[in-house]
Amino acid sequence: MDSNVKNTLREAGFGFKKRLGQNFITDKNLLSSIVREAGVESGDTVIEIGCGAGTLTRAIAEQAKKVIGFEVDRDLQPVLARTLAGVDNAEIIFKDFLKVDLAELEEKIGEYSVVANLPYYVTTPLITKILEESKLCKSLTVMVQEEVALRLCASENTPDYGAITAVIALRASAKIVKRVGREMFTPRPNVDSAVVKMTVEDNRISVADPILYKKVVHAAFSSRRKTLENNLVNTFNLSREQAQKLLTACGIDLKARGETLSPQAFAILSDKLSKI
Ligand code: SAM
Repeated sequence: MDSNVKNTLREAGFGFKKRLGQNFITDKNLLSSIVREAGVESGDTVIEIGCGAGTLTRAIAEQAKKVIGFEVDRDLQPVLARTLAGVDNAEIIFKDFLKVDLAELEEKIGEYSVVANLPYYVTTPLITKILEESKLCKSLTVMVQEEVALRLCASENTPDYGAITAVIALRASAKIVKRVGREMFTPRPNVDSAVVKMTVEDNRISVADPILYKKVVHAAFSSRRKTLENNLVNTFNLSREQAQKLLTACGIDLKARGETLSPQAFAILSDKLSKI
């Protein structure tokens, strides 16, 4: 770890909290490559979730017009005051990002992108919150555990494809842009990571009711061993006949399992189900 950051953390008496997913990065090449992969430009506003010691915050601030960082751990306040001294386009808000009113924030800041080294224990809730609630987010470039990265970017009919993949696909295309070894973090975690860029695309997949789409997706993956028909019957209280008619109307094999359906196929299924 960069000795300046290490000293600042030590002098502030900071102890890493595993329960908050505190694995920090300080390598300058890695930090600038994350910002580069995110495509941050000089007129951009960027939201960072989980500033830690402010190393990524600083790298973003060097490229962006403004960075608004959220950090849940107030023990990092004295650390960030030092590491971000003189960085006047960075604003740090000490708050759990899951509790942020995104609509209210968007009214203040306008269009933005998200760049973050996400705390592993809330990766999925943070990504889904943004993709479901945001109206003005252009892209999310996030470091996550490699295994999660593979799930975010998976194609149907592969073991990594799951509910989160199909939920993300409704609003964004996702791509792994960088692999990052565990040795790059302090403290060192037990697994490697990867940076995923999700680019939000308006009307990517058209669906009448996104909430029902999500429910259908979760139903389809509720029991991976069961057929889609069985999972639909159980979740939506359908008769077997109704479920079979529905699948046939969508051109889906009655023996199909959830993981064989593309996000587009889930959208068709959800739209037809809403009419039953
Ligand atoms: N950005 C820093 C870096 O790259 O070195 C720190 C990344 S560390 C993986 C994740 C950070 O997110 C920690 O500082 C942790 O305290 C913070 N955090 C955890 N849960 C959070 C939440 N719900 N909202 C905001 N920050 C959170």
